[in-house]
Amino acid sequence: MKSIPITLIEGDGIGPEIASVMKKVAQATQLSLVFEPALAGQAALEAYAELLPDRTLKQIKQNKVALKGPLTTPVGKGFRSINVLLRKTLKLFANVRPVRSIPQISPYQGVDLVIMRENTEDLYAGIEHEIAPGVVESIKVITRVASTRIAQYAFEYAMKNGRKRVTSIHKANIMKLSDGLFLECARKVSKAYPKIQYDELIVDNACMQLVSKPQQFDVLLLENLYGDIVSDLAAGLVGGLGLVPGANIGKKCAIFESVHGSAPDIAGQGKANPTAMILTFAMMLEYLGKGKVAKQVEAAVFKTLANKRFRTPDLGGRASTEELGEAVVRAL
Ligand code: ATP
Repeated sequence: MKSIPITLIEGDGIGPEIASVMKKVAQATQLSLVFEPALAGQAALEAYAELLPDRTLKQIKQNKVALKGPLTTPVGKGFRSINVLLRKTLKLFANVRPVRSIPQISPYQGVDLVIMRENTEDLYAGIEHEIAPGVVESIKVITRVASTRIAQYAFEYAMKNGRKRVTSIHKANIMKLSDGLFLECARKVSKAYPKIQYDELIVDNACMQLVSKPQQFDVLLLENLYGDIVSDLAAGLVGGLGLVPGANIGKKCAIFESVHGSAPDIAGQGKANPTAMILTFAMMLEYLGKGKVAKQVEAAVFKTLANKRFRTPDLGGRASTEELGEAVVRAL
């Protein structure tokens, strides 16, 4: 079998712990995957005195697929978010985050939605300045090109994955120009997909609806900032950040990464939940055309989590990162 090279950025904080577990699960699938290590973030700063070395970018472009743990951006002036920089540099325009209930664990059962977040603009453009002492501006950039591109991706994704509905989430009643343009593009794109139901919800109402009846939602289409916030809210509905996988997709390459950050509060303690990273690995397998094995990995995770003995502290259990991982490997 031809081997598939994958760039692996283990990341900061809990990154190396959960990556180590993920690699054992990958090995148990018996697929010919070769993880090629690369550095970014804090680890790259220490090794090469830069947050995003050229060699890392080159390697991702060459392999076209990367798996990434969380990266910490040093707090302070002069450092832009390394995650944002990666997504922008590699033009990874779609951030896809499937949020599903896990039997016996999730506080809300029957949730099965996908967050489709625009990944390249909005307030994340990072254009901020002080116009007078005590007065700052942060500029929200929304373009027709990026809004149309993410809407098209959302509808195509819905068609390919048997989804029935796309809901745009916005605040166009207040931000008439920016969110208005985002909606205008989504509406236009929706016309080409008559089989998919299209509707819209104002973001505050969407949050309320999500916590009252999340089962009603299917694909949620959002700008960058709303997408970030609603992702964490949705993660909470199904049991927390330790459970939700994600992918950053571009035309030429893709980086798979969980929704959670580097969790410095529990790093190095063997307490991190590796589930999100393992499910992110499964998403990557799906992308690589290994859907059958991806389903087997997911099934092994769900089977393992059904047993209270293998749950990590974030799920109310006492298992370590490794114990959960080893149980998934056995289940596979
Ligand atoms: P970022 O800004 O990078 O998203 P953050 O500090 O906002 O980072 P996280 O690092 O994701 O957020 O941490 C938020 C909370 O969730 C922390 O209390 C952390 O311990 C917890 N958490 C995040 N990921 C996991 C995980 N995999 N397992 C257990 N707990 C986690």
